[in-house]
Amino acid sequence: MGQLDHQIAVVTGAGRGIGRAIALRFAAEGADVVCVSRTAANADHVADEVRALGRRAWARALDVSDAQAVADAAGQIVAETGRVDILINNAGVTRDGLLLRMTEADWDLVLDTNLKGAFNFTKALTRTFLKQRAGRIIQITSVSGLLGNAGQCNYAASKAALIGFTKSLARELGSRGITVNALAPGFIETDMTAALPGEARQELSKRIPLGGFGQPEDVAYAALFLAGPAARYITGQVLAVDGGLAM
Ligand code: NAP
Repeated sequence: MGQLDHQIAVVTGAGRGIGRAIALRFAAEGADVVCVSRTAANADHVADEVRALGRRAWARALDVSDAQAVADAAGQIVAETGRVDILINNAGVTRDGLLLRMTEADWDLVLDTNLKGAFNFTKALTRTFLKQRAGRIIQITSVSGLLGNAGQCNYAASKAALIGFTKSLARELGSRGITVNALAPGFIETDMTAALPGEARQELSKRIPLGGFGQPEDVAYAALFLAGPAARYITGQVLAVDGGLAM
């Protein structure tokens, strides 16, 4: 028996990296998974991997910052599945640069994807959670949102805002049996961090008490905890998965 048997999870940014690891961990624990990604081939591939684990999967290629596309997809998902138990707002991008060189387009893309995307999916599924009087919402924020990071004003602002969003929504929805929490990964080995030069990587690793970068599965296990029965009485929290970097 898995911790998430027969539950339906929607995972955004499931096509690669942390989102993929969450989709596969949840499927291994018995959940059926809606895999949302920007690129159809990535969403399809991970949906196939979920099916290979014996669970149902749906692939949805869309841009989370497009409110209408998200509302349409959420409507279809609920019509097809009958319910949604877990929402993981994981889709995210970076467009790093010092503020003086940061363009308005870089600011807008990061805020629209990381923050508005989470708003769009949460809003589109909250009526379903309210009807069910149950639901788990997990935002993937970042240690950058806790500590700030030079060169990431846009990204850190989007991730810090997600924390305020999480705590406010946890207060709004608590009486209906819906929990809202956030995970704050540190440096995790994915395409997002692959471009970091070796020297920067070594310097960063020295600042991490547990040493070295984390793996996508480290975040997936924390998401499983927050989505599973053990976290029934936990809401409005931010759990860092960062090897101790932000403590
Ligand atoms: P990644 O490997 O770059 O994957 C990002 C995923 O998000 C991809 O599946 C991508 O879709 C999807 N995505 C991006 N923009 C989208 C959009 N507009 N609409 C729909 N999907 C979109 O990133 P990651 O490292 O796994 O990061 C996942 C989350 O963790 C992000 O929110 C990131 O900010 C956060 N995080 C990561 C780290 C880290 O060290 N890696 C640290 C802290 C926080 P496609 O595959 O279709 O392109």
